[in-house]
Amino acid sequence: MKKNFHFGYPSLCELDEFSNLLKDSWDSNIITNNGPLLQKLEKKICEVLNINNYCAVANGTIALQLAIEALEIKGTILIPAFSWIASANAVKWQKCKVKYCDIDPKTLNICPNSIKKNIDASTEAIMPVHIFGNPCDIKSILSISKRYNLKVIYDAAHSFGTTFNGKSVFLYGDISCVSTHATKIFNTAEGGGLICNNENLKEKIKLLRYFGFDDDKNVILNGINAKMSEIHAALGLANIKYFSKTLIHRKKIYSIYRNELNNCNNIAFQEINKGSNCSYSPIIFEDEKICLKIQKVLMKNNVFAKRYFYPSLNNIKNLVANEACPNSESISKRILCLPSSNNINNEDALFISRIIKNA
Ligand SMILES: *Cc1c(COP(=O)(O)O)cnc(C)c1O
Repeated sequence: MKKNFHFGYPSLCELDEFSNLLKDSWDSNIITNNGPLLQKLEKKICEVLNINNYCAVANGTIALQLAIEALEIKGTILIPAFSWIASANAVKWQKCKVKYCDIDPKTLNICPNSIKKNIDASTEAIMPVHIFGNPCDIKSILSISKRYNLKVIYDAAHSFGTTFNGKSVFLYGDISCVSTHATKIFNTAEGGGLICNNENLKEKIKLLRYFGFDDDKNVILNGINAKMSEIHAALGLANIKYFSKTLIHRKKIYSIYRNELNNCNNIAFQEINKGSNCSYSPIIFEDEKICLKIQKVLMKNNVFAKRYFYPSLNNIKNLVANEACPNSESISKRILCLPSSNNINNEDALFISRIIKNA
């Protein structure tokens, strides 16, 4: 069989390592509701990332919703137009108003000047995204949030393993939310998590995750079911053993692409800040026509690169009123993420680079 090269194949342990972990669950009949595997996973993630709290939930989108609910945000939330649609979905489902900010065309992260320009009397929070695991301009965002009294929720969906000032990037902002979806660098098939430094907020998030019940089963908050099951937690526990290997692998593959394509003068790269996990391998073309042409040529060779993110969120009709975000619109039309999953080896990355160079 000819090898397929896919963007977004999951990083997976051996099947046995996963299924062995499920034996106890089958014996005890505990397959969800804050079971032992979930608690073990939360502890393990704290160890691996050197953080002191992690609340695992059903997916990354509901993590963002819980963060908005926990901080009691009701007004406008600023998000970058260059992101996955879930950033906007979460804000809308919390009945808050979305306002799009433009991005820095180099780092691809939300632009602090655009944040300032978009702040008005209704603005209550900023929800920046560490795009492709590249840490945002956290210092500027902190100073803006202080000056205008805004909450900061980091959409850290891509950022498992990303650091800032030598610490996990999850430790910044009022709350950070991660996704552990199948396509992310560390996965539990579906899943997500919240990290925050405030004790009251931590407790609140735990209650919100479980229908708003307190320890005596009184409903004291407007909760929801956001629990992660034992089955998903088991996959996480089995996969996390390989996380550091995957992190090295993704960085290596991305560096091969960058080295090989560095002297193509119509290809540009994201400016990488210190601490990025390089969990994706994005390349940026001169225009949309070349981008689409290369995607087609790659496809003919069984290489499936993804237009990610496309389109710019402000160009999705039926989502929120359009606002111009020229950098985001321009980048989203001409960016491709190349495959960098565990099944892509060094030779594959060289092969894929050659196809691009020849085209
Ligand atoms: C994947 C992703 C999400 C949502 O995570 P799910 O676990 O798929 O719900 C949110 N924001 C960004 C930027 C993402 O890439």
